[in-house]
Amino acid sequence: MRIHILRTGEVRVSTFLPFGGDNCSLLKASGITTPKKDWIWLPVCCYLIEHPRGLILVDTGWHREMSPDGVYDKKAQIKSLGSWLLYHVNQGRIPKGEAIDEHLREMGLKPGDLDYVLLTHLDCDHANGLRAVSDAKRILCAPEELACARKNGFVRYQKKWWNGVDLRTFEWNGSEGPAGKSFDLLGDGSVVMVNIPGHCDGLCAVKLTNPEGKFVLLFADGGYATKSWQEMITSGVALDKKMQRKSLEWIREQSLDSQCIASLATHDSNVEPHVIEL
Ligand SMILES: [Zn+2]
Repeated sequence: MRIHILRTGEVRVSTFLPFGGDNCSLLKASGITTPKKDWIWLPVCCYLIEHPRGLILVDTGWHREMSPDGVYDKKAQIKSLGSWLLYHVNQGRIPKGEAIDEHLREMGLKPGDLDYVLLTHLDCDHANGLRAVSDAKRILCAPEELACARKNGFVRYQKKWWNGVDLRTFEWNGSEGPAGKSFDLLGDGSVVMVNIPGHCDGLCAVKLTNPEGKFVLLFADGGYATKSWQEMITSGVALDKKMQRKSLEWIREQSLDSQCIASLATHDSNVEPHVIEL
């Protein structure tokens, strides 16, 4: 397996959103009370996996229309996300060449070459780029995540991000992870979506394992950096704080496992684009 860690732009948030901890209120994490000098830009990553049984994309980043000229564009963002409220919580920018379809083109690939697109969850910085890869053969997320998106539609999620996209839910077929729910994509244990709820209901880590048992953990927004699990710092945004902590404990346990060769958060400032051979 070869795992390409790709950067698909950046997101600006209040420092309390990624590292607010267990007692951070949603209001504080949203940044409404945070002066702009205390906001930070974090990377947004996606992962392209060259698997012997197919090409798999994990998450899609921002759509180019968010940032037409490659710089932060308030008007374009509000139009693309379809939400004025979300603009207050996070702002995005994508330098030219970093949108997911642009990365694929650079690699000589088309969205239709993707056998699977797996969504760790449906927050805007993960799902807004979905329409750029809508030709992929299978586009999947957890059933709880689509339900969560429907329930929290006005504030957090906008249906327009996957309008016209054949987004389907998978069925849990295993019991790995902090919630006892996992989905083995290919039936051989090499690509497993593990439910790590808290940040949102259907959040999944993607665990990639080779025949020798060595694995790479992509833990999405289960924590915002390596220090999140090292120092047990939960993020400020969570639908279920208690479950979020339990999920972070599982991420820590996995990351410390001697078979784990890499453990990556989507928004870790210390992670540069690179390729992992697994
Ligand atoms: Zn995110």
